Order: sequence, then structure tokens, then C-alpha cells
Amino acid sequence: MQSKIDQYTEEIKAFTAAKADELEVFRIKFLGTKGLIKDLFEEFKTVGPEEKRTFGKVLNQFKQFAEGRYNEIKESLGSGPQVKESDIDLTLPGDGFEVGSRHPLSLVRNEIIDIFKRLGFVVAEGPEIEDDWHNFSALNFPQEHPARDMQDTFFIRKGDGTDDIALRTHTSSVQVRMMENGKPPFRAIMPGRVYRNEAISARAHCFFHQVEGLYVDENVSFSDLKQTLYHFVQELYGEGTKVRFRPSYFPFTEPSAEMDISCTICKGSGCNMCKYSGWVEILGCGMVDPNVLENCGIDSKKYTGFAFGMGIERITNLKYVIRDLRLFSENDVRFLKQFTTDII
Ligand SMILES: [Zn+2]
Repeated sequence: MQSKIDQYTEEIKAFTAAKADELEVFRIKFLGTKGLIKDLFEEFKTVGPEEKRTFGKVLNQFKQFAEGRYNEIKESLGSGPQVKESDIDLTLPGDGFEVGSRHPLSLVRNEIIDIFKRLGFVVAEGPEIEDDWHNFSALNFPQEHPARDMQDTFFIRKGDGTDDIALRTHTSSVQVRMMENGKPPFRAIMPGRVYRNEAISARAHCFFHQVEGLYVDENVSFSDLKQTLYHFVQELYGEGTKVRFRPSYFPFTEPSAEMDISCTICKGSGCNMCKYSGWVEILGCGMVDPNVLENCGIDSKKYTGFAFGMGIERITNLKYVIRDLRLFSENDVRFLKQFTTDII
């Protein structure tokens, strides 16, 4: 046994390897599960107790020596596969990668912002978690007023009504913050996410996106409102898109109106998108109620203003003929991929 160990030791000492596969042959020969060291341990089991005492230590030292030598050579060869220049085929095609695309809502929001920027509107933003004052009271929603029921609200903290904290139900709260913290004239649009406590379906969602606009200055009239929105629609949906205003009610505007445009799908001849009327509603608008101006510390005798608000999902549906709101938040790549060509 000792002579075998001596012989192997000499062999291991003399061993060198220039390539990983040579080292692998060495590993299998000495350290493998059927290697020579394993054989020595098998042999060791058969020797008498006297020899066991002597050889136990010698054998373990020999094993450590062989492992040490193996690791030493392995380190000197470096890790990883050894690749030769001749192994690389530069003519093979590379791995393709997918080009990302903007979300359709982002595309449309950016388009809306661009149109109003050209008219001199700036972009304003505000918090999504709002207090009662900014979301309701300042906007002429008195306590217990039935208009509060028009919007199903997600409350975060329900107090006595005046100290409620909620997820904003519209971006009108940004208008209040803007008017409170500045001086007229104001000319701004407020894009942002809003929340309503509604069951999710093809036509309703618990969150969606709005763009609101506010213009406050001396002598702002309803004709300014009409001309601004008329221009906006021509820019967004193309020249010749017809517009009509219908009287409506919102707590924060007086008078109030809803604006329809001629159906972008059937061009007014009737389809199921416009319920065969030829018209589709796209936004609500009106002259800012003097109470709202006064609530925000603005002299309503001197200043007047108009405001409007639209859902970006609605505008997008009409532009791309999307019939299910849920598609916007499901992140299905098959849906999102269709907008790849719209990258700017
Ligand atoms: Zn139609």
C-alpha cells in the first residue's frame, strides 16, 4: 500500500495540464468515484488494526495532497470554457430582441398635452390621495349634497365628512390647488389617474385617466371655451370633425355642458360605437362656478374662467376602436404590441 502511495505521489507531482480536458482525465483517474484513491480506501478496509493506525493518517494526507494539486492546476487554467477563435462562427444570426412600445393611453395623453401646449397651456399635477376640501367642498359639493353620490368614492379615512381622506375621484382637485397657490391668469391642463369605486367591466373600471383643463382670466367667456375645444377636436380627430354642446350639470361649473363629436368610426352614418346616433360624447365642460373661484380666493367679479375634463380611455377608444376598458390594464403583450408603430 505504501509503495502505491509513493508511486502515485510521484506521478501527481510530475503531472501538468495545458487544457481542461487533460485535467479532467487526471481527476477521473485519481479522484473519481472509481478512481485510484477510492481503491486505496477500499483496500484500507481490509488491513489489520495495526496497519489501520499507521495508514489512516497517511492515506488522508495523500488524498488531501491529490485534491490540492487538482485545485492548483484548475486555478492556473482559469475558469470557464476555453474558446478558440476558430470555434466562433460570425456568420450565425444574432439573438433578436423585441422593440418596446408606448402604452396607447400614454400616446393619447401625450398627444392631448401637445395640442394644448401649442395653445399656451402648461401641465399641472397634484396628489392622488386627497382631502375632502380639495376633492369636494372647494368644488361646490356641499355636505349631504346629492352630487357627491355622482361619484363613488374610495375613502381612506372616513371622518365626519369634512376631514375625509380619499383617492381623488377627478383631477379637478389639482385645479383647486393651483388656484389656491397662485394668482390669475391660469391656463393649465391636469393629466392624471383617478379612482371610482365601481365594479370592473368592459365599460367601467375602478381607476382611469383624465385630462382636465382650466383657463381663468379677465373676460373669459363661453365662446372662448367653445373655440378652444373645437380647435382641440380638429387637431386630435382631424379636420371636419363636427362638434355639438348639450346643456348638462356639474357642481363646479355654471353653465355646464357636455360635448359630443361626430362619430369617428362611422363618420356620422351610425354604428354600434355611437349607438346609431352618429354622435359620441367625449367631455364635460362649463364656466367655472363663481363659488369655486371665491373658495380658492379669487375675485369672481373680476375674473371668469372655463374648465373641461375628459377621460383619456374614452378618447383612446374612439381613436383606436377599443371596446373593452380592461385591455388597458391587463398588460397583454398581444394588445400592447399593436401600438409599436406609434413610437415617437
Ligand atoms: Zn358611429
